[in-house]
Amino acid sequence: MSDSRPDYQRIIEQIHQELLLHKNYGEVADYIPELANIDSEQFGVFLHTVDGNNYHTGDWQTPFSIQSIVKVLLLSLAYTKLGGRLWQRVGVEPSGTPFNAMGTLEHDDGIPRNPFSNAGALVVCDVLMDTYEDPRAALLALLRSASGDDTIDFDPVVAASEKAEGHRNLALVNFLKSLGNIHNDVEAVLDLYLDSCSVAVNCEQLARSFMFFANHGQTLDGGVQLLNRSQAKRLNAIMLTCGFYDEAGDFAYKVGLPGKSGVGGGIVAVLPNHFSLAVWSPRLNEKGNSYRGLRFLEQFTTVTGESIF
Ligand code: GLU
Repeated sequence: MSDSRPDYQRIIEQIHQELLLHKNYGEVADYIPELANIDSEQFGVFLHTVDGNNYHTGDWQTPFSIQSIVKVLLLSLAYTKLGGRLWQRVGVEPSGTPFNAMGTLEHDDGIPRNPFSNAGALVVCDVLMDTYEDPRAALLALLRSASGDDTIDFDPVVAASEKAEGHRNLALVNFLKSLGNIHNDVEAVLDLYLDSCSVAVNCEQLARSFMFFANHGQTLDGGVQLLNRSQAKRLNAIMLTCGFYDEAGDFAYKVGLPGKSGVGGGIVAVLPNHFSLAVWSPRLNEKGNSYRGLRFLEQFTTVTGESIF
């Protein structure tokens, strides 16, 4: 990055402060009972740049549930093993439907439209069960190596809470099995998926975990090549087109960065060659994306003029 780098600390603080002055909208994801118990007004930001600088504000140190954001990391694990063969099991088209939709599956012969829908992520988990001896260990190893933080772990309380109420995902995995696109035991696949969604991260850990997408597949610390350049490009493209449920077009239009959201209220977005940026605020809009997180990112790319476009 050049000398003309924006004053990131001032910018993130200013946007954060401004948003705190405005009414917060949306609801927390109370369909996962444990997620209903958090203080919905928390709001954290962490910006990690490829030149190794960090900027943060608000509740950036508070852990939250990664939820759907983990689907990008699950996909990375599957893609590095299967390469292009993975696309026989799951597509790369935006779905234009909610994250837990079942509607198109029958018509599409059990091939989910993309890996970031719940159906797509369940198929990816099925692939991981066939390709890794211990997929949970592989996921933690990826998260820890990508972030340089060995403390990142699953949250068994969140996992149990979602398992107790996971009727929709149970229906999805059974439906996929009936259509021939799940090879392993449905309970085991669902268990892996829900454990993965339970991983607890704070904004710093999340931003650091996604830095390799901003750095052509390579970690900043240690230079580990987790994806090759082409793979990183392709996964960034899927984040851009499919990362925000049926609000992906709106996100690309307003923010202009590849990214991924989760119903825990987290959003991570990357600008290749520049930064990885994590925002967390638990109240979700009607599409399931963090209300304040979206507004923050929209203002950030507007003020800095930094986006992929
Ligand atoms: N574990 C959540 C579910 O399957 C993830 C959803 C999300 O973050 O979009 O419902």
